[in-house]
Amino acid sequence: MQETIQNLRARIDALNLQLLALLSERAAVAEEIGRLQTALGMPHYDPVREAQMLEALTAANRGPFSDETVKGLFKAIFQASMQLEQESDKVKYLTSRQTRREDTVVKLGDVVLGSHHAPVLVAGPCSIESHEQVEAAAAFVASRGVKLFRGGAFKPRTDPYSFQGLGEQGLRLGREACDRHGLLFISEIMDACDLPLFLEYADVLQIGARNMQNFTLLRAVGRANKPVLLKRGLSATIEEWLMAAEYLLSEGNTNVILCERGIRTFERYTRNTLDVSAVALAKQETHLPVLVDVTHSGGRRDLLVPLTKAGLAVGADGIMVEVHPNPAVALSDNKQQMDFDAFDRYLEETGYHKKLSQKRH
Ligand code: PEP
Ligand code: MN
Repeated sequence: MQETIQNLRARIDALNLQLLALLSERAAVAEEIGRLQTALGMPHYDPVREAQMLEALTAANRGPFSDETVKGLFKAIFQASMQLEQESDKVKYLTSRQTRREDTVVKLGDVVLGSHHAPVLVAGPCSIESHEQVEAAAAFVASRGVKLFRGGAFKPRTDPYSFQGLGEQGLRLGREACDRHGLLFISEIMDACDLPLFLEYADVLQIGARNMQNFTLLRAVGRANKPVLLKRGLSATIEEWLMAAEYLLSEGNTNVILCERGIRTFERYTRNTLDVSAVALAKQETHLPVLVDVTHSGGRRDLLVPLTKAGLAVGADGIMVEVHPNPAVALSDNKQQMDFDAFDRYLEETGYHKKLSQKRH
């Protein structure tokens, strides 16, 4: 009896191997179909085809498995094939770690962003408002060792009657202040038509949350020979955010920096909810550097330090904050920008004062 069991088990082992060989052969055929479907822009899942296959299988079923069992077994095989097809689709994305294992490093002047380089700090006012305001802000942050200056000239405002930014004049004022203080200039572009202006005045093109899926803008900026900072949309999923980055890379721009800036949730104590898992996931799924904008994330000054620590703890390559000489009278975001004393305390409490090479007067 024992011997018979052993013999039967040997047959089972051989059958297992035959089944495995057949499953592998089937998977290779499914992958080939998947590649053709991808090339034709067709979806991998075809419910009609699946129903036909299951019908043919149950019609051919002579037992001992019930039709339901046969269906269950084959559904598992179909699903495994589908996963294979989806995985091989993923590989083609330029933003994916599967396409490029090593971290992308973006060089901005002598600042290096990404991989294991020290976290950077981007600081500056929400909007560029006047020569005096931008000069004061640039001089101050530069004296604290900041190298990357932010300031909006074209502002995406909810209310069409509120301050919209100084436009080209703002870009010029920002450029001049940055040149006087050895800073690199980051500013938001809202319209592809303004690209020539931005190529002239800015060092980094920011695509704001509200324009994350402006595909015309993404394509135009993707063709520009300038680094890009791509913010996550207010209600964008991580996948949508990464796909937006894919637009930039697909047009040839490889100097892309992602920026999480909080997403809209039901919570009202904060302006937005900082999604720390998105930061960790973006680092895992892509090879791009990731920043965290702590000012717009919380929309509260009292959260700037803890959110900075949280962002860096989950692997952010740097932080963006808003600093204004006199936030109370700022023309945008006056509730959340830091004044100079608050910025000094912020640098101390986050440890950034040690990370930046300062030249205090
Ligand atoms: C900004 O950084 O100036 C800005 C408008 O941010 P966001 O696009 O993230 O709202
Ligand atoms: Mn702002």
